[in-house]
Amino acid sequence: MRIDLHAHSNVSDGTEPPAGVIVSAVAAGLDAVALTDHDSTDGWDSAAAAAREHGIAFVPGMEISCRTGKGISVHLLSYLHDPTHKGLLEEITKSKDARLTRAEHMVTLLSEDYPLTWDDVIHHVAPGATVGRPHIADALVAAGVVADRTEAFTSILTSHSRYFVQHYAPNPATAVELVRAAGGVPVFAHPVASSRGRTVGQDTYQEMIDAGLLGVEVEHRDNPEEGRRFLRELAAEHGLLMTGSSDYHGTGKPNLLGENLTTPQVLARIEELATGSTVVR
Ligand code: AMP
Ligand code: FE
Ligand code: FE
Ligand code: ZN
Repeated sequence: MRIDLHAHSNVSDGTEPPAGVIVSAVAAGLDAVALTDHDSTDGWDSAAAAAREHGIAFVPGMEISCRTGKGISVHLLSYLHDPTHKGLLEEITKSKDARLTRAEHMVTLLSEDYPLTWDDVIHHVAPGATVGRPHIADALVAAGVVADRTEAFTSILTSHSRYFVQHYAPNPATAVELVRAAGGVPVFAHPVASSRGRTVGQDTYQEMIDAGLLGVEVEHRDNPEEGRRFLRELAAEHGLLMTGSSDYHGTGKPNLLGENLTTPQVLARIEELATGSTVVR
C-alpha cells in the first residue's frame, strides 16, 4: 500500500486542479492520497468524485497556517474533520481573508521595485483559492524577475525580505483544539523544517499535545534526519502517530507524489480516531 497524506491543488498553491492531483496520484502508483490545501476544503468534492472514478482512496484533509506567540510559523494538517464545523470554518475564513489583504500589501511593496501589479498576481490564482506567496512568485516568474518559485522564495519572497508581510493566523494549540472539536485528526506538518524559518521549542510541542495533537509528520523532505530522530522519540513518548508525505504542489515545487509514505496501520488509526468525515473509497 502506497499512501501519501499531504498534497496541494490549485484550491491553494498547487498547480493542478483537485481532480488533476488524483490523476497524478494514480500515475505515481499511489493507493491513497490526501488533499491538504492551505486553509480550504473547497477541493474535497471534486477530488472525491475523481478518486471514485479512478479507483483510488481519497483522504479529505487541510493544512492550517498557524503562528505561535513568539512569531514562529506552524503548519497543522487536519484529516477527516467536519468541513462545516462553525468554529474551525470561522478561523480558516479569517486566515483566508487576511491572506488576501496581506498579498495585496506585499504586491504594493514589490511594485515599487519590480514590474508587478495585483492583476498579474490574480491571473495565477484560481477562483476562490487561498492566496499565498507562491502566486506572487508565479507573477514574478511571468514578469521575468525570477526563473521559478524556488528562486523567488530564496530571494525576494523569504520571510526576511523587506517585501514580506505577515497575515493573521491562529495559535497552533487553538487550531489543534478546533480540529479536534470538528472531529478531525491534527498532525503537526514538517515540524523541524528549519530551512523554512525558525522551528518551535518544547513549550509549543507540549501546548499542542495538551490541546489534543494526535500526530507528527516525520518523513518529509524538509525535516533534517536529526530532527526526524527527535520526532520519533517525541512520538514514542506521547503516543503520537507518525506520518510520511510528499507535500506535492504540482509543478510549483520539486516534491513528488509518493516520495514519502504513511503506513496503512497509521491511516487505519486516523480513520478510527476521526468522527468528522470519512475516507472516500
Ligand atoms: P505563504 O503561506 O503565503 O506565506 O507561503 C508559504 C507557502 O509557499 C508554503 O506553504 C509553501 O507551500 C510554499 N513554498 C515555500 N517555499 C517554496 C518554494 N521554494 N517553492 C515553491 N513553493 C514554496
Ligand atoms: Fe503550500
Ligand atoms: Fe506546510
Ligand atoms: Zn503543505
